[in-house]
Amino acid sequence: MNSVWSATANLKSKKTQKQTIHTDVLIIGGGMAGVLCAYQLQNAGVNYVLVEADTVCSGITKNTTAKITSQHGLIYDKLIRQFGVESAQLYLQANQAALEEYRTLCRDLDCDFEEKDAFVYSLDNRNKIESEVAAVDRLGFPAEFVEQLPLPFSTAGAIRFSNQAQFNPLKFVAAIMPSLNIYENTSVQELTDRGAVTNHGTITSDKIIVATHFPFINKHGSYFLKQYQHRSYVLALENAADVNGMYVDEAQKGMSFRNYQNLLLIGGGDHRTGKKGGNWDELVDFAQKHYPEAKERYRWATQDCMTLDGVPYIGQYSKNTPNFYVATGFNKWGMTSSMVAARILTDLVMGKESPYAAVFSPSRSILRPQLAANALEATVNLLTPTPRRCPHMGCALKWNAQEHSWDCPCHGSRFTEQGVLIDNPATGDLRRNPS
Ligand SMILES: Cc1cc2nc3c(=O)[nH]c(=O)nc-3n(C[C@H](O)[C@H](O)[C@H](O)COP(=O)(O)OP(=O)(O)OC[C@H]3O[C@@H](n4cnc5c(N)ncnc54)[C@H](O)[C@@H]3O)c2cc1C
Repeated sequence: MNSVWSATANLKSKKTQKQTIHTDVLIIGGGMAGVLCAYQLQNAGVNYVLVEADTVCSGITKNTTAKITSQHGLIYDKLIRQFGVESAQLYLQANQAALEEYRTLCRDLDCDFEEKDAFVYSLDNRNKIESEVAAVDRLGFPAEFVEQLPLPFSTAGAIRFSNQAQFNPLKFVAAIMPSLNIYENTSVQELTDRGAVTNHGTITSDKIIVATHFPFINKHGSYFLKQYQHRSYVLALENAADVNGMYVDEAQKGMSFRNYQNLLLIGGGDHRTGKKGGNWDELVDFAQKHYPEAKERYRWATQDCMTLDGVPYIGQYSKNTPNFYVATGFNKWGMTSSMVAARILTDLVMGKESPYAAVFSPSRSILRPQLAANALEATVNLLTPTPRRCPHMGCALKWNAQEHSWDCPCHGSRFTEQGVLIDNPATGDLRRNPS
C-alpha cells in the first residue's frame, strides 16, 4: 500500500550512529517536522544532530496528501471565538509565512510544487461557510465565498483562499536532506540528564527537540491526555477529473480532493484510530459512482495527532522542562505546521523571542470538552478485558480488519498482526503469544 510519493521519490540513505556523539541540539524524529527543524537550525548556524529510528519520512509524512495552505478547515471563526482576534491573526500569519517560505524554497527544487487555490466546502451548512468568510475578513485576509465547485456533487458553498500550494513532499525532502546532519536507523530509547541513549550508544546534548509525531515521553506534558489520533484513507485515480485546486469538507468525516500529475487523490473514510469508519470502501464506492471510467493506481492510509483545541503543540515540552521542546498535534495540517514549528523552535533554542510562541505553546489551558472525551475513551479501554493490550499505557487493542493491524483507540499506537510496532506513541512491539 505505497503512496504515490513513496513510489516517485528517491530518498538517499543516511549514516547510522557508530559512536558517542556530542551536539548542541538533538532532534528526535525525521519526518517533515524534524527535517525542517534540522534545515532551519543549519541555516541559523546551530550545531545539531537529527536521529531517525527508521529512514527519513518513513512515518506519517510519506502518506500525507501534501496540501500547503494556511486554510486549516474552518478554523478562523473558531480561533477568534476561543482565543480572540489577535491570536487568530498570529496563527494565520505564521502559516502564511510558512507557505511563503515553501514557495521561495521550492523555486529551485525539483518537487512538483504548484500554486493552487484551497477550498473548504460544506455539504449542507451555508451559514458555517459565511461565518468563516466573515471571520477571515476580520483578520484582513482576502477570502471569498464560492457557489460552484468542480466536484461531482452539489454543496452549500465554499470558502476560497487563493495562491496556496501543493507538492510532492518526499521529492521536497529528498532535495533538501543531502547536506543535513542526519543519522538513520538510530532510535532514542531513553532520555537522560545529559542527552539520550539510543540503540547504538549515547548522544549528549544541551537541548532536545522531540519531533516523533506522538511524543513518547509520558512523564511530562500529559500528551496522552492532550491528543488522540485520527486515521484517513486515500485513493489515487487515473482517468478521473482535473479539479484544479485543493478541496476539503468542513465535516471531520468528509472528503478531500487534489490532483497530482494525471492522478486525482481522494481522501476520506476517516475515524478515530481503533474505531470503525468508512475506510477505502467508502472511497471505492464514491469513485465507482462518480468516476466510473477511472482506474485505481495507488491506495494508502495514515493518521495524525488531534489536539484539544485544533492548534498544534509547538514549544517547550512542558512548563518544568527548559531546553526540552516538542512539535506535535498538527491536526492533519502538518505541512505548514512543520515549517511553523521549525521557525519557532529555532528561535527558542537560540534564546530569541518568537512572535508566534504563545499561540502554539503546549502549556496553554487544557480545559476543553475534548479532554473529557479523551479521558473517557482511555477509561473505557483500560477497563475492557482482552489479552491484547497496548504497551504504551495498557489500553485494549482493537483489530483493524481493513489493514490487518491491532490499533489502540486511546492514543493511536498500531501493531502488525504479529505484534510488531507500526505507529507510536508505543515504543516497542507487543509481547508474544497473548492467550
Ligand atoms: C490522510 C492524511 C492526509 C494529510 N494531508 C495533509 C495535507 O494535505 N496538508 C498538510 O499540511 N498536512 C496533511 N496531513 C498531516 C501531515 O501529513 C502530518 O501532520 C505530518 O506528516 C506529520 O509529520 P511529523 O514529522 O510530525 O511525523 P512523522 O512523519 O511521523 O515523523 C516522525 C518520525 O519520528 C520517528 N521516530 C519516532 N520515535 C522515534 C525515536 N524514539 N527515535 C528516533 N526517531 C523516532 C519516526 O520513525 C518518524 O519517521 C495529513 C495527514 C493525514 C493523516
